[in-house]
Amino acid sequence: MVVDGHFRDRISSMITGRVLFDEPMSMHTSMGVGGRVDALIFPGTVDELKELVFFFLKEGISFLPVGNCTNLIVRDGGYRGILVSLEALRWLEIKDEKYADSICIYAQAGVSLSGIVELSIRESLAGMEFCAGIPGSVGGGLKMNAGAWGKELKDVVKSVFIIDSGSGIREIARKDLMFEYRNLNLPEGTIITGADFHLVKGSREEIQEKVSNIIAARREKHPLTYRSAGSVFKNPPDCPAGKMIEDAGLKGFKMGDAEISGKHGNFIVNMGDAKAGNIIALIDTVQEKILNERGIVLETELKIIGEEL
Ligand SMILES: Cc1cc2nc3c(=O)[nH]c(=O)nc-3n(C[C@H](O)[C@H](O)[C@H](O)COP(=O)(O)OP(=O)(O)OC[C@H]3O[C@@H](n4cnc5c(N)ncnc54)[C@H](O)[C@@H]3O)c2cc1C
Repeated sequence: MVVDGHFRDRISSMITGRVLFDEPMSMHTSMGVGGRVDALIFPGTVDELKELVFFFLKEGISFLPVGNCTNLIVRDGGYRGILVSLEALRWLEIKDEKYADSICIYAQAGVSLSGIVELSIRESLAGMEFCAGIPGSVGGGLKMNAGAWGKELKDVVKSVFIIDSGSGIREIARKDLMFEYRNLNLPEGTIITGADFHLVKGSREEIQEKVSNIIAARREKHPLTYRSAGSVFKNPPDCPAGKMIEDAGLKGFKMGDAEISGKHGNFIVNMGDAKAGNIIALIDTVQEKILNERGIVLETELKIIGEEL
């Protein structure tokens, strides 16, 4: 379905937030690459979002939710359809509910993970420190089951609020959510609108110290001065992907302005004017070499969408 003038007017009239047509996604992805999307829209409220989803489904318009686009590559030919950014949904609160050993916080999908980490330091709430330095949003983080230092969002989430094809908003309890390594299994088209997390009362100094140590370790290990999408590949069970890539002699290998970081083998960095095609070509090269040399299929952690040029 082409998002033509008629649909453009309808979409613009349904939304109080920003609507960007023919938007280059290189302006929005953390990698700084990607072709044009038919429309990138920023619903201002959950009700708007709900109406839009029903409209897209009725009209057969393709759509995909996005958060901070820090784990996303859009191919150079762009994306035909609508990317729905949850960026404007930023409500974050400590809920009144009391549990024996935990405090519940609610965060809408557009809240940044670092925003929750900041709140948890301010309010002396332990449990989210592992998210320090992960640049994603709550929605994207949950969909990716983001994690670091042996913890994942699945360990702190209490329930997730979603919009799916048939329903309005539904709350799904943790026990009914199918989390996997870097994935939350949800039916296609499901949009996470927010989540409850349970954190525990802790010492502010200890939480702050943990966060500072994590940030320092990230600065030391990761190539943070260049644009990237974090780890490109999932770690296979027996050996970290970065180590395999290093052992294969691929650190520093370049295609155009995309480079396998010399600092961390599992990062591909944009040294200037890389194209999505350069990054995907590097990914293919790594996968082929590791398969040939070790018989291991490296799966990508980051998501690749859209069309080739
Ligand atoms: C420097 C750097 C360091 C990183 N370190 C880590 C790390 O330590 N651990 C880690 O796990 N990740 C890491 N990442 C990757 C990334 O930040 C995480 O995966 C993050 O959780 C993605 O969130 P996002 O909002 O950017 O999602 P996006 O990139 O916008 O989207 C990712 C996926 O989630 C889907 N999605 C987004 N929002 C929603 C929603 N509301 N409902 C349903 N689906 C949605 C998208 O369709 C897409 O498939 C790092 C990235 C960078 C650039």
